[in-house]
Amino acid sequence: MHELQEKQRCVLCEGEAIIFRKGNIDKISSKDLKITDTQYGKHWQLWQCQNCEVVFSYPMPDEDCLAQLYREMKDEEYDYEEEGRKRNFSKIIDRIEQLNKGKGRLLDIGAASGLLLEIANGRGWDAEGIEISFDLYQKGVRKNLKIYNKNIENYESDNKYDVITAIDVIEHLSNPQIMIEKSWNLLKEGGIICLVTPNISSLAAKIFGRYWWHYRPPHLYYFNCNSIAYLLKKFKFEILMMQHYVWHFSLYYLFSRLKIQYGKKLLKSVIIPLNLMDSLEIYARKIDKGN
Ligand SMILES: [Zn+2]
Repeated sequence: MHELQEKQRCVLCEGEAIIFRKGNIDKISSKDLKITDTQYGKHWQLWQCQNCEVVFSYPMPDEDCLAQLYREMKDEEYDYEEEGRKRNFSKIIDRIEQLNKGKGRLLDIGAASGLLLEIANGRGWDAEGIEISFDLYQKGVRKNLKIYNKNIENYESDNKYDVITAIDVIEHLSNPQIMIEKSWNLLKEGGIICLVTPNISSLAAKIFGRYWWHYRPPHLYYFNCNSIAYLLKKFKFEILMMQHYVWHFSLYYLFSRLKIQYGKKLLKSVIIPLNLMDSLEIYARKIDKGN
């Protein structure tokens, strides 16, 4: 019989990691990957690095198998929340415009059906997106958006970007370092990256424990202020701003999460802001590798 290893090495900093939460899943299916999935409290065996504080899954689902599942992913419910998402993304573009002092070329990683691209284009940006799900990518193409059916690992561009956004993406990756390094290479000098990701050190995560809604099968990494700052600094980014992400969504979305059935149309029209303070919104600037 194999003894369970009690320690792991951290992928980000090589520090020593110890068990954070015992896993309760050992496989993943296409329905687990839906953005609107409601299976909270399911996660792989989680380890926390004692040095940089990142929490990571080990073992992880096979990378090729995961990529295949994302390619085949369909999420019919994603667009139901268009109004709430539009508000989320508009706030992000507001802050980017303040920090970047103007508009320019923007790349959205994990663009889904291209909502952020539409908002950015409407405000004078030249926005492009990459989306691995073929179904979501096609929805973007039908809206005449510049969207490519690729993942960040195999995306190349000769033209550099002023801004890169990755909203609720980094926690899904088998190796988040690849995305951060790639983003550095794709950005212009002084370009800005914006990340949104769940905060594992938040009060909500502590209160809800294993029932926290961000514990889901497709989440492989969980960050807090320290670990996300460590990762960005490692790849030569300077943190400009870090804050709690305010979610906007409809009452219908909230009720459906709670499995309450009630007047769909009416509830969809009521958009509420909710600051659960359990996601981080981070803006960082690319600095020269020599600095
Ligand atoms: Zn570490």
